[in-house]
Amino acid sequence: MREFDYIIIGGGCAGLSLAYELEIHEKFKNKTLAIIEPRNDYIRDKTWSFWKVAAHNFEDCVKHSWSNFSVNIPNQTKYVKCDNSPYQSIDSGLFYEKIINTLKKNTNINFFKSINEISTKNSFIFNSVTNVSDSKNDLWQHFSGIEIETNKDVFDNQIFNLMDFDCEQRNSVHFFYTLPFSTKNALIETTWISDLNHPSNQDYSIQLEDYIKNKLKIKNYEIKFKETGAIPLFHPQNIKKINQMEIGTAGGMTRLSTGYTFMNIQSQSKYIRENFENIQKVNNFNINSKYKFLDNIFLKVLKKNSEKMPEIFFKMFNCSPSTVINFLSNKSNIYEDFSIILKMPKRVFLKELF
Ligand SMILES: Cc1cc2nc3c(=O)[nH]c(=O)nc-3n(C[C@H](O)[C@H](O)[C@H](O)COP(=O)(O)OP(=O)(O)OC[C@H]3O[C@@H](n4cnc5c(N)ncnc54)[C@H](O)[C@@H]3O)c2cc1C
Repeated sequence: MREFDYIIIGGGCAGLSLAYELEIHEKFKNKTLAIIEPRNDYIRDKTWSFWKVAAHNFEDCVKHSWSNFSVNIPNQTKYVKCDNSPYQSIDSGLFYEKIINTLKKNTNINFFKSINEISTKNSFIFNSVTNVSDSKNDLWQHFSGIEIETNKDVFDNQIFNLMDFDCEQRNSVHFFYTLPFSTKNALIETTWISDLNHPSNQDYSIQLEDYIKNKLKIKNYEIKFKETGAIPLFHPQNIKKINQMEIGTAGGMTRLSTGYTFMNIQSQSKYIRENFENIQKVNNFNINSKYKFLDNIFLKVLKKNSEKMPEIFFKMFNCSPSTVINFLSNKSNIYEDFSIILKMPKRVFLKELF
């Protein structure tokens, strides 16, 4: 059986981001890599969006970028500027194509459908596959989105809507998210934060149709693309193994209060590349523990006070745009953390803290 110096299990966002980061820094000139990925075709399956708080390798895969966004609760809208950290959307189809075309040029890199096709005995493994077992207490961000096209100019593509809470909450936390890529084309998502045992919230198509027709007042549209997913708002428990490192969602790269993962995956890939020659000895890259601590309190509050959450999210945006964006993107300093904490309702948060 063939042996490789390195193996990446799972050629999704984390596996491919890491392979690309290592390849462009010439780490596979004299070393071999196997990528294990069961899918047959790489086609667009997701849209990854984030505030660009650091440089990344995929600027040419950005579908659209915005310098303004809005947040809504019933009868109130907040407009926020984000020119210093624009919000970007990456088309996963372009991302996969760019990476696969680059990796294919190096004969030291090979793809396999199953780990059983190769020997793992003498390899260092980067693993992005996890069996997330769902317990009743766990929260998920689950959502479905459709990209629609209209024949008239109906969207303002200079501004996106991050969260529109002016909708049915059904004793959970629910908002719509609209990313207008052009005046005739937008991705509209219905997003819930709840456990996954709420099948009644998963009538996504009905929710989307109702929102588009009755709230956005768009009667005629064509659906161009659909994405549905669930992001665990908890981290998998990993047992440290010699010669293995967990990456991506499996490696705890999801920000628990928001589900944002893409930029953390890029930071983790960069960290691994910087420590590649010494990878057996270094600790894995982690999201700063202050965010895990604060996010866990936030999620406890959310679980018990879902009806208060639209206002709590809304109030967070009373801070300066850079403070909120830095906080949500794990780049905030202590003063920014305190500004956010001070905007939260003290009694409910203190109750969960103690
Ligand atoms: C629909 C959707 C939209 C999202 N949007 C955003 C966003 O806008 N912004 C953001 O920051 N985050 C977003 N996320 C969260 C996160 O960025 C993505 O989930 C991201 O794809 C995580 O990367 P990953 O490599 O950990 O997992 P994946 O990208 O899912 O990769 C895992 C790979 O492992 C493969 N695999 C599965 N089983 C095996 C096996 N047994 N052996 C080998 N390989 C296997 C899969 O085919 C897959 O390719 C989104 C998530 C989803 C589901």
